[in-house]
Amino acid sequence: MRYSESFIYTLKEDQKEAAIVSHNLLLRGGFILKLASGIYNYLPLGLRVIRKVSDIVREEMNKAGAQEILMAAIQPAELWKESGRWNDYGKELLRIKDRGDRDFVFGPTHEEVVTDIVRRFVKSYKQMPLNLYQIQTKFRDELRPRFGLMRGREFIMKDAYSFDKDEAGMDVSYEKMNIAYHNIFRRCGLAFRSVEADTGSIGGKDSEEFMVLSQTGEDEIVICDSCEYASNVERATSIVEDEPAQEIELKEVATPGKQTIKDVCEFLGSDPKFSAKALVYKNEKDEVFCFFVEGDDELNLIKAMRATGSVELEMVSDDELKKLGLEKGYIGPVNFPNKDVKVLCDERIKHRNNLVVGANEPNYHLMGAKFGRDFECDTADLRVVKEGELCPRCKKGTLKKIRGIEVGHIFKLGQKYSKAMNATFLDENGRSVPYYMGCYGIGIGRTAQAAIEQNHDEYGIIWPISIAPFEIEIVSLDTRNKELVEFCDILYEQMKKEGFDVLYDDRDERAGIKLNDMDLIGIPIRVIVGKKAFEKGEVEVSLRRDRQKQSVEKDEVLEKVK
Ligand code: ATP
Ligand code: MG
Ligand code: MG
Ligand code: MG
Repeated sequence: MRYSESFIYTLKEDQKEAAIVSHNLLLRGGFILKLASGIYNYLPLGLRVIRKVSDIVREEMNKAGAQEILMAAIQPAELWKESGRWNDYGKELLRIKDRGDRDFVFGPTHEEVVTDIVRRFVKSYKQMPLNLYQIQTKFRDELRPRFGLMRGREFIMKDAYSFDKDEAGMDVSYEKMNIAYHNIFRRCGLAFRSVEADTGSIGGKDSEEFMVLSQTGEDEIVICDSCEYASNVERATSIVEDEPAQEIELKEVATPGKQTIKDVCEFLGSDPKFSAKALVYKNEKDEVFCFFVEGDDELNLIKAMRATGSVELEMVSDDELKKLGLEKGYIGPVNFPNKDVKVLCDERIKHRNNLVVGANEPNYHLMGAKFGRDFECDTADLRVVKEGELCPRCKKGTLKKIRGIEVGHIFKLGQKYSKAMNATFLDENGRSVPYYMGCYGIGIGRTAQAAIEQNHDEYGIIWPISIAPFEIEIVSLDTRNKELVEFCDILYEQMKKEGFDVLYDDRDERAGIKLNDMDLIGIPIRVIVGKKAFEKGEVEVSLRRDRQKQSVEKDEVLEKVK
């Protein structure tokens, strides 16, 4: 591609809306352009990267025996009602109506649709194993879209779905995907780890996430320093024996419902974040406990925390809860000796340890409560592990916390969807059995951007060659010199003929601008043709990674880059 004819427009200034480097570089390099919050246009450079990542994904999926299809992006509500997710999915699900007032969703994922497709054709155990995948645009109305393609609302995902006749088959299909995922992320040039993961709202049993290791990642991972154990903290379990929750006596120090968060914050010397009503209690040791409550009596405890000076006041009002799509929360009886109390707990609270939980009145509280043990809920085995804890697997090493970007996720779904949707086949004995399913996702844009997060310097992006928009960039620094231009033109044609993806900066621009753009865009191999060297019969070849220039005889360039 000739730069002069291309639609590549770089920006000089850092972009204020970008909180992380990779987002800034994608915007500055002219890879993407924001259309609305969490919604981006892919410009030529960006689309090239998306294609490169998709091609790798496609190759590995095909190699693993999966077949590509393309499902509809808009899905009828009926399927979501069948699976139960019409009610369960929450606000991330974009619901739309057609002119006939019929409900549809813009697909955030495709378990329902693929199950519907398969149940129409696959009636016998002989038709499995089967794995169908697609690379397609999804929409999730994320609460906080941010970081560019990392957490968009509209984004491109590869999603695959396996169907098997039994659990053993499902395990094999899952393992095949596991291997394919390792190949994919290795080929994308990423430093990553697969970690044990929480199965979240999709449900199911085993699940692993593929994490690109990066400080800017939104996920926290624990890894063992002596064995292979690695787990998302959302999921990690600890082997440290727990003290049972203690009943504690609390005295009201303010009238329930009368304290506002602001009052409490002032009392504790913190900044209020949301507005809600709070109950404030003290125990015998004069420690203060705040419970933030509002409205509904039954759901009286929204977020409990031990407020001892350094507390972060991170609480939610009913409105905020609703925005989080948590209006249901997790409600269950707490094991109070003599009172039946209900507790509401949100997605984030469940990952905390040592909660104080209780009723909307004094003297019915437990300290050191644990999710799963003292709360009855369906994700009972969750608790947070601390750094330095003993590894639950080898029981020798200690755990360390690092951060990661979730680029891929594989799940064993079991019969969750097939049962709900009555999607069955006849087994060897003529019995009707729901399929055993697995689902496997990769964020294409997130993967591309994670690569930048791991590969950049102060000048710009350093693309791994496998997913770079171009492999080689030729920069001619003197567009008035006929001989030099002619040399570059020929070299460009030769390189294309050799099958390289070449960007040829033939623009009539100052050298400084061209060299800066070259560093910013991050093409891995560069051939710089400057006047002085050219007159000596040489050009400069360098790698973006180290920017070390090497003089090469001009007739040997092609051989050199091969
Ligand atoms: P997250 O925990 O980051 O919200 P998720 O667990 O909800 O992701 P999955 O349902 O597992 O996502 O989807 C499969 C893959 O799709 C993820 O591993 C990720 O790479 C990608 N993905 C999910 N949400 C987004 C998003 N908002 N923007 C870009 N990619 C996304
Ligand atoms: Mg999500
Ligand atoms: Mg996740
Ligand atoms: Mg996930």
